[in-house]
Amino acid sequence: MNTMPSTIEMEHAFRRRDATYDGIFFLAVRTTGIFCRPSCPARKPLVQNVEFFATAGEALAAGYRPCKRCRPLHADGRPPEWVERLLMALDQNPEARLTDASLRAMNIDPVRARRHFRQHYGLTFQAYARGRRLGQALGQLRQGVDLDDVALGNGYESHSGFREAFAQAFGRPPGKSRDADCIVTTWIESPLGPLVLAATTEGVCLLEFSDPARIEMQFDTLRRHFDRAIVPGSTPHLDTLQAELASYFAGTLKAFSVPVVYHGTPFQEKVWTALQQIPYGETRSYEDLARTIGAPRASRAVGSANGLNRVAIVIPCHRVVNKSGELGGYGGGLWRKRILLDLEQKGQAAA
Ligand SMILES: [Zn+2]
Repeated sequence: MNTMPSTIEMEHAFRRRDATYDGIFFLAVRTTGIFCRPSCPARKPLVQNVEFFATAGEALAAGYRPCKRCRPLHADGRPPEWVERLLMALDQNPEARLTDASLRAMNIDPVRARRHFRQHYGLTFQAYARGRRLGQALGQLRQGVDLDDVALGNGYESHSGFREAFAQAFGRPPGKSRDADCIVTTWIESPLGPLVLAATTEGVCLLEFSDPARIEMQFDTLRRHFDRAIVPGSTPHLDTLQAELASYFAGTLKAFSVPVVYHGTPFQEKVWTALQQIPYGETRSYEDLARTIGAPRASRAVGSANGLNRVAIVIPCHRVVNKSGELGGYGGGLWRKRILLDLEQKGQAAA
């Protein structure tokens, strides 16, 4: 489950229209049936009429409509303003050690920063900052920058300190890493709440809803499968995916072109490949899918392979439903499956 701040903290935040809480929680107003970001400029409702949600998707699922002023569903793929400031500070000055005191000096609450990073990346802020620094160092090594420049330029005081941190994260010493690859991860806002994305140089390997427990599990699996470290950052595949997701949620994109990579058993991989053949706006039953892959008696196994899909939405496991027409299961929660299927119905009708 997503963690939310205390009710009192959330009340203070929306009274002050504190934008630093945007993306952390949403507030819904029972009397109007509308939900907002904490920073919404609209007149503030009475506390007793307010209900709080960790994600926009949960507010939608509870029957609330998005506010037209603060547009809580606006999937612009940008993190909240204060997170952007923090990321920018890291980019501009990678050697800066961002202590709690220096965060406060930037008007950023260290507790909130930690919560945000854990919620969205499944990492502590320190681990995120460390990963980002190492990711940059690796990028420079691959571009042929001298090892001395890389170590000292990224804020490591000594060679040995750099070597140690590097070997720990990437499982090999920096001198041998010019051809090493890593998994790059980022997150975006979406109508279904924050999404965690990850890609290798070959393609997208993760699209997961932002639930810390699931993300930690998925990161472990990815590390094992690909034998690579996970570092925050951006890559061309992640940029493409973000742009395609924005069009998908706008109802204008019906097929993703971004490459996907997956590792599974031959059976799982067959299921994941077959899922990508189900057309936009249509559904299939687990039995249909089992027949498609030539294993008509394996509909239960098809169901579990479906549930292990790591690239949600792009590999459309949400298009598989029960034979009876009921929704069946969904790792990201049934409300998300319903929203995706409704969105595709509308997108298809509009075409
Ligand atoms: Zn609003």
